Amino acid sequence: MKFCPECSSPVELRCPPSDNRMRHVCISCATIHYQNPKLIIGSIPEWEDGRILLCRRAIEPRYGLWTLPAGFMENGETTAEAAIRETMEEATARIELGELYSMFNLPYINQVHMLFRAKLLDLNFFPGPESLQVELFAEQDIPWDTLAFRPVYFTLRHYFSDRKSNQFQFRIRDLAPAQR
Ligand code: ZN
Repeated sequence: MKFCPECSSPVELRCPPSDNRMRHVCISCATIHYQNPKLIIGSIPEWEDGRILLCRRAIEPRYGLWTLPAGFMENGETTAEAAIRETMEEATARIELGELYSMFNLPYINQVHMLFRAKLLDLNFFPGPESLQVELFAEQDIPWDTLAFRPVYFTLRHYFSDRKSNQFQFRIRDLAPAQR
């Protein structure tokens, strides 16, 4: 942040009184602009035969790679509403939302990802503007090498593992930057 969204004056980094970390503070109106992590919310849509709905991304980052339908939570909505909305926007898919299944902390990019189990209600899905392709995949057909994001990879691994026993267990995991 370089300029104050309130008054357009420059901001500077300083630690406000009674705070313990550096903030962007406006040099003119003194507004403190707090920056907090973003929530990325999505679903794991499962069809009756056990296949999972994946979207191939039509946008950066990770253009052309596969992902579960997910995106940034909006103000004024619940996490469940965000998951249903993102699934509709990216895959035009209608779901019945289930339980929260996985959560990932990515502190190095200030994100928290949350994915819900979901029942896909019909097969009338097609790519939204942010997707190139939307397909159902059985476990053996999942494009493991071209998944867009590690939370999606880990979630699908856990999901298929849990489904063998039909004992789905909420997972939480903290991720560090990927080693390459
Ligand atoms: Zn200002």
